[in-house]
Amino acid sequence: MDIPEMMKAVVKTQKTRGAAFQIVPVPEVGPGEVLVKVRACAICGTDVHMYQWNAWANENVEKSYSGLPRIMGHEFSGDIVKVGEGVTKVKVGDRIAAETHIPCGQCYLCRTGNGFNCQNVKRFKNGVYAEYALIPEMSAVLIPDSLSYEEGAVMEPFSVAVHGTSFTKVAGDTVGIIGAGPIGLFTVKIAKAMGASEIFITDVSDYRLNLAKKSGATHTFNPNKVNVVEKVKELTGGLGLGTIFEISGNVKATKQAFEMLRKCGTMVMTGLPSEPLVLDAAGDIVWKAAKIFGVHGRDVYQSWETTKGLLGSGCVDVKPILTHYLDLFTQFDEGFGLAEKGLSGKVIFILQ
Ligand SMILES: [Zn+2]
Ligand SMILES: [Zn+2]
Repeated sequence: MDIPEMMKAVVKTQKTRGAAFQIVPVPEVGPGEVLVKVRACAICGTDVHMYQWNAWANENVEKSYSGLPRIMGHEFSGDIVKVGEGVTKVKVGDRIAAETHIPCGQCYLCRTGNGFNCQNVKRFKNGVYAEYALIPEMSAVLIPDSLSYEEGAVMEPFSVAVHGTSFTKVAGDTVGIIGAGPIGLFTVKIAKAMGASEIFITDVSDYRLNLAKKSGATHTFNPNKVNVVEKVKELTGGLGLGTIFEISGNVKATKQAFEMLRKCGTMVMTGLPSEPLVLDAAGDIVWKAAKIFGVHGRDVYQSWETTKGLLGSGCVDVKPILTHYLDLFTQFDEGFGLAEKGLSGKVIFILQ
C-alpha cells in the first residue's frame, strides 16, 4: 500500500473554541511504532473539553498531552499499514483499536502490576483525527473479527466502563448509574449482562435517558424534574442501591449518589468533579461502611480482554449507543455540537 506524504487532519491550533481542518505530514514510523490507517474514531469527554478549550483544557492539555498545535482525538480503530523496526507482536493488515495510556514499565506502579496508573504515563505523540495515526506497538489491541471499525473505535471507552464494573458484584442486585453519557450507557449494558436485578439511571438529558431505557435501564430519572434520592428510597423500601456508578462528575449529583447508596454498598467513581466535593463523611461513608473505588482509565489489559469477550461474542451490543455517524473532515464541528449538548450517545467519525 502506498502511503502518501501528506494527510488530512483535524487539528487543535489555538487555545480558543473550535478546531481546524488541515493538511499535515504523515508521521514517520520509528522503532517500536506502528502506523495505522484510521477507519473510525470517536468523541470522548476530554475531546469536548479540548474543543471548547475550557478551564479543564487550559489546566491539563499541555501537561498531559503536548503543546499546540496537536491533532485531536484518541479513541479510534484502523488497519496497520506500516511497522517500525523491532515490531513483532502486530503486523501490517491487522485491524486494531488502541490503549491510549502508555506506561513506562519501570516505576513502582508498573512493577507492581498497576501499569494503568503509571507514575510516568505518556500519551500518543499526536492525536488520531487524521487519515493516519502513529502509536507504539504495545498500545495496539486486535479488534475481534465480528466487530465493525465503528464498534472497534469505542472499545477504549467501553473498557473504562468494564474497569468500573470489575470492582463490584451486581448479579441479582440493584445498581444506580449517575450520568447517561456513553460510559454510563455502556455501564447499563454491562450491568444488564452481569445480571443486575434493577438498573436506575439519572441524567438531565431526556434524550440520553431514553437511550438508557432502550439499553436496559429499568428506572430513569431526570434530577431536574424529580427528587431522585426520594424516588430511589421509595422504590427500594428505604434501603438504597447496592452499587452506584458515579460517572457524571457533577458535584450535586455525586452527593446525592452517596445518599442513595445502601449501607455496606459499593460506590464506583469515574466522573471527574469540576469543583471540590463536600461529603458528610460520617453518614455517607463511615457509618454506612461504604466501599469506594476510583476508576482511572482501563485496567490494562484485563479490561480490554473483557471488552473483547463481551463485544466480540455479541453478549453486549453497543451499536444502539453509537447514535451518530459523521464524516470526520467535513462534519467535526457538528459532531462536537451534538456531544456537548447531550443530544447523542457516542458520536462516531468515519473516514471515507
Ligand atoms: Zn477517551
Ligand atoms: Zn510506570
